[in-house]
Amino acid sequence: MSAEGHVVQFAPRSEVPQYIESQNPATGEVLGRVPVLDDGEIKAAVARAREAQARWKTLSVAERGKRLLGFRNALVERQKEVCEIISREQGKTFFEALSMEVLSVIDSVTYFANNAASILAPEPIPLHLMKHKVSYLHFTPLGVVGIIAPWNFPFAIPTTDAAMAWMAGNAVVLKPSEMTPLIALKTKEIWDSVAGLDPDLFQIVTGYGAAGAALIDSGVDKVVFTGSTKTGRLVAEACGRNLTPCTLELGGKAPAIVCDDADLERAAGALTWGAFANSGQVCASVERVFVSESVYEPLVEKIVAIAKSLRQGEGMKDDVDIGALTFPPGIPRIERLVADAVAKGATLRTGGKLKDGPGHFFEPTVLTNVTLDMEIMHTESFGPLMPIMKVKDEHEALRHANNSDMALLGYVFSKDHTRARGIAEKLEVGTCMINDVLATHAFPETPWHGLKKSGLGVTHSAAGLKAMCRMQHVSDSRVNLLTRELWWYPYSKSFTDQMSSMVRAGFKGGALTRLLFGG
Ligand code: NDP
Repeated sequence: MSAEGHVVQFAPRSEVPQYIESQNPATGEVLGRVPVLDDGEIKAAVARAREAQARWKTLSVAERGKRLLGFRNALVERQKEVCEIISREQGKTFFEALSMEVLSVIDSVTYFANNAASILAPEPIPLHLMKHKVSYLHFTPLGVVGIIAPWNFPFAIPTTDAAMAWMAGNAVVLKPSEMTPLIALKTKEIWDSVAGLDPDLFQIVTGYGAAGAALIDSGVDKVVFTGSTKTGRLVAEACGRNLTPCTLELGGKAPAIVCDDADLERAAGALTWGAFANSGQVCASVERVFVSESVYEPLVEKIVAIAKSLRQGEGMKDDVDIGALTFPPGIPRIERLVADAVAKGATLRTGGKLKDGPGHFFEPTVLTNVTLDMEIMHTESFGPLMPIMKVKDEHEALRHANNSDMALLGYVFSKDHTRARGIAEKLEVGTCMINDVLATHAFPETPWHGLKKSGLGVTHSAAGLKAMCRMQHVSDSRVNLLTRELWWYPYSKSFTDQMSSMVRAGFKGGALTRLLFGG
């Protein structure tokens, strides 16, 4: 692609392979190959999507929902096929493909198909002063939404975002990660098979990072990006140059705070699942554990026992708990974080290395005696590592937890809900779960958003659906009683004085202010 105007210079097209070969990270098996599209092909995909969107936006939200339920039904019917390609191309277990991706998409599509009409209905805005006026919000489609997706949840993340975009009346152009293009193409194949859905409303543009950059520059009306904070900055810069709105869902370094009154059985189960599910390749993964000193030893014992019992292997095999690492270039970072922690005094309780043999499997790893000078407490590992640090109490834990630029998810464990909510509300994260981990990405009603360097904007929930729209404010008068408003021409000294008196009477406090403004 042309790199003109870009901060990042991508390699000239002549030096870039024309095809991406997709491999099973558990076996090395080549699963298929997809073309690397150039700028012109990406622009053409956006143009086709734009034409389809002009037709789609004329349908009522209810009718869009009806058609999307056809897509949902096809996904239900073909769930095994989708789970298989997810497991084979991305490496997670078949069960995780079903429980963390396919089920969550099926439920979210159903939710947005059934609820978008009420969420996007005109929203009245009560005015506190201008009682003769009436205001409301009106939601209209943006046009073409470009979705740039990561490889860790290659089905759930883009398809849920796409469902919101479609329900809001948009077309979608998806740029999947170069690691997981076949899953996107399978989704498209299923979309195309559903009667009543225009194939052009859903375009897939395969390629490397340059394809994502080209999509941003192709004139899309919004970019929804999920990926690393590093790439997120580049995406935000490119969107800024074009003044294209963007939502950024970026990296995490989720802290978990375990109080001295926690249910240790539940905490150990949640923390091990939260750190090792999908081989730790989850933006919401438990990446830092702070445990009150009085429960530190018994909790660590339980966690280590669970970690040692986990079975690792090819995701498509039965009785496997942890699948493969999808992205081999990430492995040196995982190894470096373990080595640095051990060199600085951490105790390796289990795991710690890449397994021999074909495929990329890093052992589920528990490190204790961890301290804040270790890089593992600051850099997102995106691997199956659980560093555990002993703290005096939740106050110390909160201080350390909030001392981070990453602020996507956080977790609190305590049997006392009042205490847990008090801590949760002080934790600087977009979502805090109490006595549970990871799961809210699958709750379509709840927002998904990072604070600080973990993101900008919001997806999922009513707010995420509305973020797929242009929000228009309409202001009208209840009745046409006045021939002119008080602040129109002509101005006069006497009316200026009257207005000044009105300001004094109305805003100086006392009975009239309370009557007008309630305070
Ligand atoms: P990357 O940032 O490397 O890539 C994300 C997507 O951006 C890929 O499709 C990638 O293409 C594309 N891309 C790369 N360069 C550019 C560019 N200059 N312009 C536009 N697009 C580009 O992330 P990963 O795929 O490695 O995902 C892992 C990261 O994502 C982790 O940090 C994780 O925490 C975060 N994440 C955040 C989530 C959230 O909801 N907050 C959820 C899931 C993951 P290609 O792959 O072909 O290079």
